[in-house]
Amino acid sequence: MSRTIEVRVPDMGDFDAVDVVEVLVEAGDSVDADDGLITLESDKASMEVPAPEAGTVREMQVGEGDSVSSDDLIAILEVAGEASDAVDDASGEAQNDSAADEAPAGENTTNSGPSSEAPRADTPSRPVDTSDADLAVDLVVLGSGPAGYTAAFRAADLGLKVALVERYESLGGVCLNVGCIPSKALLHVAALLDDAAHFGDHGVQFGAPTIDLDALRAWKDGVVRRLTGGLAQLAKQRKVEVVQGTGTFTSPWRLQVEHDGATRTLAFEQAIVAAGSRPVELPGLPYDDQRLIDSTGALELRDIPARLLVLGGGIIGLEMATVYHALGSEITVVELTDELMPGTDRDLVKPLQKRLAQRYDSILLGVKVVGIEPTDDGLRVSFEARDGGEAPEPRVFDRVLSSVGRRPNGDRIGADAAGLAVDERGFLTVDRQMRTNVGHIFAVGDIVGGPMLAHKGIHEGKVAAEVAAGERSSFDARVIPSVAYTDPEVAWVGVTEREAKEQGLNIGKGSFPWAASGRSLAMARDEGLTKVLFDEDTGKIVGAGIVGPHAGDLIAEATLAIEMGCDAHDIGLTIHPHPTLSETVGQSAEAFAGTLTDLYLPKKNRR
Ligand code: FAD
Repeated sequence: MSRTIEVRVPDMGDFDAVDVVEVLVEAGDSVDADDGLITLESDKASMEVPAPEAGTVREMQVGEGDSVSSDDLIAILEVAGEASDAVDDASGEAQNDSAADEAPAGENTTNSGPSSEAPRADTPSRPVDTSDADLAVDLVVLGSGPAGYTAAFRAADLGLKVALVERYESLGGVCLNVGCIPSKALLHVAALLDDAAHFGDHGVQFGAPTIDLDALRAWKDGVVRRLTGGLAQLAKQRKVEVVQGTGTFTSPWRLQVEHDGATRTLAFEQAIVAAGSRPVELPGLPYDDQRLIDSTGALELRDIPARLLVLGGGIIGLEMATVYHALGSEITVVELTDELMPGTDRDLVKPLQKRLAQRYDSILLGVKVVGIEPTDDGLRVSFEARDGGEAPEPRVFDRVLSSVGRRPNGDRIGADAAGLAVDERGFLTVDRQMRTNVGHIFAVGDIVGGPMLAHKGIHEGKVAAEVAAGERSSFDARVIPSVAYTDPEVAWVGVTEREAKEQGLNIGKGSFPWAASGRSLAMARDEGLTKVLFDEDTGKIVGAGIVGPHAGDLIAEATLAIEMGCDAHDIGLTIHPHPTLSETVGQSAEAFAGTLTDLYLPKKNRR
């Protein structure tokens, strides 16, 4: 049995007409639900119009170069289902999950986070009787990290009765309690210490600092308490019921919450899983020894180890190395691959690596830790060279910080009982509405993969809450910025040069060395670099990378420019305040456009 449906241009908000820039299928093609049919482009953004259901394309009604408006017919699809004389209309309004996946006009549909291919199970029927439950809510959110509390608050603002389940007393998850916030508080202290220690060359001498570790810890804890306490207050104001305890699904409609030996049953109509992630532990290492710590242990600031080994040269390890080095530890970093911050463009990492090499005891690249033996004198660490070459001799450290990645908590939530599909690594797969394979259960944050970053989870939390509340929303951010809050900071967004090369993209670059930035020199720093990447065919910005102090703040401009589809003139002709580091973004765009005057460009590069 089959029927035909019409696919029409969805509601395009303020746009009267937009151009069809690409037709992705032709008559006779088979398509899956959510496969793109055409790409529309306005002067603000581009969007794909997806197939609302799987089927066969019978007719395409538009071609490249056509101009279309809301509700214009795009295609006729033959799909599985009861035959009907009437042709179904699959336009604009969300008639089913897939149709609702369409992004509204003015937004794009490139999705760097969640997959658009969550296998969808039939939603199991919901028991009408909730008398077995201690609490019945419209929406339960499991986990109160950035993704979870954002989802809970947004859903409550949209009128849902919400319960937020968290195993710890303090809300805020990893980010607020043992991640982003305490690490940034300590990195601020590290920056102060480092500036004071190195400003002697510029005529200002400070004495050696005295570090009161208890007071420093108390200050850091106070920053965390202030924010997590603020969350509790925000939950109260919205009448979000916070339920403390470990939540486990017992069915697709029930969550059991255990706390201090007591058990409560929550009945829900919809759920959002935001149970986050935990540090990876390498097999065979003595994690029961107090001297082998993870990032949570490092943030506790129990002491300042004289000799600290940072196992893993990724962002978290290098941030913690920055803190402990400033506090006085001698640092060794060991990284299995041949590069610090693997995968990041080398020109961005180089200034950081050069600075660290001058300050740290050693940076061991291409080296594997093969054993850690607890001794009275410390942890004796043995190494192996990855390429089978000569390995460093075993060394003894007072502490070893294991920072080799994080793994999702999908294996710890009773997923089977809810019918949730969890992959072998513990991730839940979601579509662009953040729905899992069980239609009324959503998942957001670290547990769905993509970059494990708080701002990604926050964005996803909003999408899930809005969809749960019946709004047409989907995750359609073009790009997600990444930042290492090291010194110098390293930040990037969108396409990297490495990716452009690997994918053979036709990319042009404009860059500006901070040695020519007045503001950077006034800060006694000259190692920074800003680069902006443009698509040579469309002229639009597709990526940016920045290394230097405050790079993490500066990358936001490039992120907005990518979302807005800016070209080099949009950025270069935007007046940036002088003297600021933000000028380097404009200057990089000018370098690409050939209009830069702050450097002497070869004639062939001037326009
Ligand atoms: P989480 O923050 O992990 O929260 C999940 C919550 O769910 C936790 O509170 C947990 O207790 C709770 N939970 C789990 N299972 C259950 C259960 N069964 N029952 C009840 N509760 C449960 N990201 C950035 O963007 N910027 C940074 O600067 C940054 N710095 C970081 C520094 C460090 C040291 C670390 C470790 C991480 C950092 N991150 C940073 C990553 C960031 O912390 C995470 O991406 C973010 O916290 C993920 O949010 P989430 O809501 O998905 O999960």
